[in-house]
Amino acid sequence: MKRVFISDLHLDENESVLRDALAHFLKTQCSDADELYILGDLFEAWIGDDDPREHSRAIVHMLSALTCSLFIMHGNRDFLIGDQFCRETGAKLLKDPTVISIGDENVLLSHGDSFCTLDLGYQKLKPILRSKEFQREFLQKDFKERELISKQMRGESKKQTENKDEEIMDVTHDAVLLAMEQNQVRRLIHGHTHRPAIHEHRLKDRVGLRYVLGDWRPSTTFLVTEDTNYDLRNFNYNA
Ligand code: MN
Repeated sequence: MKRVFISDLHLDENESVLRDALAHFLKTQCSDADELYILGDLFEAWIGDDDPREHSRAIVHMLSALTCSLFIMHGNRDFLIGDQFCRETGAKLLKDPTVISIGDENVLLSHGDSFCTLDLGYQKLKPILRSKEFQREFLQKDFKERELISKQMRGESKKQTENKDEEIMDVTHDAVLLAMEQNQVRRLIHGHTHRPAIHEHRLKDRVGLRYVLGDWRPSTTFLVTEDTNYDLRNFNYNA
């Protein structure tokens, strides 16, 4: 059983190189995979499954052609991915966090933003953005208006991120330990921070391993599990 884990592509219609990179990745790294997991932020912004833009349609089409099983988790930028997207791509939407079995071991999957507990501004905004009321109201607007609002919000968020300390943008040890203990796992796979690495954490009765996936600019770090073997790999699409 081969599983491939990626995240944080931040696909954007203004950067077609990333779309090509994904196509190349699926062809070269996933052709013999049984399952592909996209752990959030596939898109720089997803503002509704009714997105008519050519770029978005092309991604949906690309994913729908996959022969392996596809699992997708919301990131902080594409949490409006919904039923229609899943139907059209054949993806199964995973809750954040989700526990899956790899071999006979439970493994925790998450996008990772919920572990960044020092980012108080974002943690305060998150429940509002994720509320049914906000989402219903937003999705009722016509697509052009949604595009405008999304652009404004991204501008705001960029400004704020530039002023935030490096430490604030990373996960906290406490949040990671809590999630791993609560879910009784030894391994956690997540993205979001764009700091690919394997970290060791001292849990109550064991050593926990945390696999952090990379973003895609200008190359990416992704995880492959083959049966019970874990391998963090680099994919350089410019090579
Ligand atoms: Mn993210």
